Amino acid sequence: FDMFVLGFLERFFRPIYKKDDIVLGKKLGEGSFGSVYRVSLARKPSSKPADLVLKKATEYGAVEIWMNERVRRACANSCADFLYGFRETSSKKGAEYWLLWRFEGEATLADLMQSRDFPYNVESLILREVQDLPKGLDRENRIILTIMRQLLFALDGLHSTGIVHRDIKPQNIIFSEGSRAFKIIDLGAAADLRVGINYIPKEFLLDPRYAAPEQYIMSTQTPSAPSAPVATALSPVLWQLNLPDRFDIYSVGLIFLQMAFSGLRSDNSLIQFNRQLKRCDYDLVSWRQSVEPRAGPDLRKGFELLDLDGGIGWELLTSMVRFKARQRISAKTALAHPYFDREGLPALSFIQ
Ligand code: ADP
Ligand code: MG
Repeated sequence: FDMFVLGFLERFFRPIYKKDDIVLGKKLGEGSFGSVYRVSLARKPSSKPADLVLKKATEYGAVEIWMNERVRRACANSCADFLYGFRETSSKKGAEYWLLWRFEGEATLADLMQSRDFPYNVESLILREVQDLPKGLDRENRIILTIMRQLLFALDGLHSTGIVHRDIKPQNIIFSEGSRAFKIIDLGAAADLRVGINYIPKEFLLDPRYAAPEQYIMSTQTPSAPSAPVATALSPVLWQLNLPDRFDIYSVGLIFLQMAFSGLRSDNSLIQFNRQLKRCDYDLVSWRQSVEPRAGPDLRKGFELLDLDGGIGWELLTSMVRFKARQRISAKTALAHPYFDREGLPALSFIQ
């Protein structure tokens, strides 16, 4: 089979959904670019109702459909299972784009990190049967290591496909109950490096809590965003020079930091951390020197966790959270980092 034949077959056999098939359920999210609902399908009353997620997006939804289609073909395991996207014109608000995914599970990484029981609550999701190891740093480190491995695996899939997500944060990482692993969601701000599909409205630029420093520079150089999705043809060579994937690495490094330091999990404490880090010229080592002498128990515990096994976790963290994009480790290289040589949770359900 060549790709043409496969594409042809798919067009015929893939289910097509329409507005009337969809029964709205609970609202899961509401942003300035659309609303997200849990939905089911009305079409087959006899069969088990499908458990899906619908995003009603504004005109920017066109790019999000495009990204999801690409992910579905190239690195399906990285992201929530995308079913279908279409333009919906009958709404009073004008044209919308509707996107459908499989409902992956109840909890995002943000929800799970809010719990006092984190990271043990994740362990019981991944393993179903909880281990009878004593609670403590070592066990927590194994769970965090497993989460990091899953995040980097998913991110490496996207980056190898040529996609940079640009909005990696715990709110955009869903725990897939089916695969018992974390998957990335919300490709609304993503950019495709291969074909140069790169559009983000100004407002997307970007979640400042997780954004790498270089994006602020970019945003001031882009004073006015066009009013409709556009595909800009950017040279892949230019993209390569800028290593835009390292933007996501910075964000995932901040997630690593928040997992290690329970005191940095709230929005306010993360914002405060970002200020401190900026004052240290984005040098984590000097940040550590400035806070460690007067660190409370939460901070001390985080440093202790990262210092296990000769500080290999700290080494990984500092190779992700760096000012200069080109000095940050790539997702693929990070997966081969010695931090991951140690055992995580049994790889039961670990995505292929
Ligand atoms: P937004 O643009 O509003 O941020 P997201 O794509 O991030 O839209 O989705 C909003 C929320 O909906 C997510 O934070 C998550 O709680 C939930 N959600 C999105 N996709 C799925 C999915 N496939 N399975 C389960 N929940 C989902
Ligand atoms: Mg989101």
